[in-house]
Amino acid sequence: MNEDELVRELIERVAGEIGLIIWDMRPKEELTDEEMSIILGIEINDVRRALFSLYEIGLAEYRRKRDEDTGWIEYYWKMRYDRQREVLRRELEKVREKLEEKIQYESENIHYMCENGCVKVRYEEAMELNFTCPRCGGRLEYLDVVNAIDKIRDEIRRIDEILMEL
Ligand SMILES: [Zn+2]
Repeated sequence: MNEDELVRELIERVAGEIGLIIWDMRPKEELTDEEMSIILGIEINDVRRALFSLYEIGLAEYRRKRDEDTGWIEYYWKMRYDRQREVLRRELEKVREKLEEKIQYESENIHYMCENGCVKVRYEEAMELNFTCPRCGGRLEYLDVVNAIDKIRDEIRRIDEILMEL
């Protein structure tokens, strides 16, 4: 996956399809949320929500200006295409950190899982429950996390490869 595709994936995750549509507009100049709403034919509240989601991860910014005729404050938006690599790196590093924490947690705690998949509990809790699922009465079975941890490690490796190429 190249950088543009990765950014699009990130945008879709945080700002949804409307976020992607806005990103792909590549407007030459700043636009107000209202103008975007008209150009795209999308409900203004949906446009705003997507814009603020893009703003939160650093891919959009706005300038406030009072409209001299109406007295309303207008938000002029600009996409930060120049920041996409930086944002991508930061977000990938965040995901990577969470995966590391997950490995740590999984390897420090022994878990039991209901044979029917309803609950996952820690060993102490499973003991208190007499290894019986509180929801369905099924048996709580020891959960082998080695495979799960291997999968997380693969994911981390993939992120590292992407980060090296960015
Ligand atoms: Zn159960």
